[in-house]
Amino acid sequence: MGNEIRVTVWNEFRHEKINEKVADIYPEGIHGAIAKFLQAQPDINTRTATLDEPEHGLTDNVLNNTDVLIWWGHKAHKEVSDEIVEKIYKRVLDGMGIILLHSAHFSKIFKKLMGTSCDLKWREAGEKERLWVVNPGHLIAEGLGEYIEIPHTEMYGERFDIPQPDDLVFISWFEGGEVFRSGCCYNRGRGKVFYFRPGHETFPIYYQPEVQKVITNAVRWAKPAGGPAPKFGKAAPIENITVYEG
Ligand code: ZN
Repeated sequence: MGNEIRVTVWNEFRHEKINEKVADIYPEGIHGAIAKFLQAQPDINTRTATLDEPEHGLTDNVLNNTDVLIWWGHKAHKEVSDEIVEKIYKRVLDGMGIILLHSAHFSKIFKKLMGTSCDLKWREAGEKERLWVVNPGHLIAEGLGEYIEIPHTEMYGERFDIPQPDDLVFISWFEGGEVFRSGCCYNRGRGKVFYFRPGHETFPIYYQPEVQKVITNAVRWAKPAGGPAPKFGKAAPIENITVYEG
């Protein structure tokens, strides 16, 4: 099926192994839960990869056959090999889409793509979050209402040290008073980058239909557009020109 979007869902997969509460919420891992709802879409084909597999499950063959990479990481960002990060970075510049979820704001690949610290405020109080759609014409907002409510979550607050997004789709409000740019789109080379905030591991957020809808929409938005590969360097003229000899 040549038209299917090939998605690789990558997860650090550590919290689920050591924290019973997280394992109860995500018995097949966060990657398993995300792959399951994406696989139910007729136009999406998923595979999963995790940190402790050889090459983190991201061999050249897997990366070269991935249209959109989804990334969830938190406590082991430093264990991700710089060599693999470099390969992912090159694939993004070459057109592969990447979706970074929640605590992936501090992943090596997000920081490399952004060029800033990507730091933020946080608080674990299980408070309410309301994500407002601020760009209702955007493909990622397709089928949503004016806002999404997450009843219990970790707070992330501004200042979020990222470059100005090329498109901002969501702004979050939190019960404790903070706000956050929680759905940020970027173009990097021929590739698209989407950062989406929800997804703290101790809450069942990836089972929420609106959150699943956003991630599904983001896969369709981030898939390679198939535009021309840029040619850099010295170039022969396309038209006949007279070289000025001075
Ligand atoms: Zn978290």
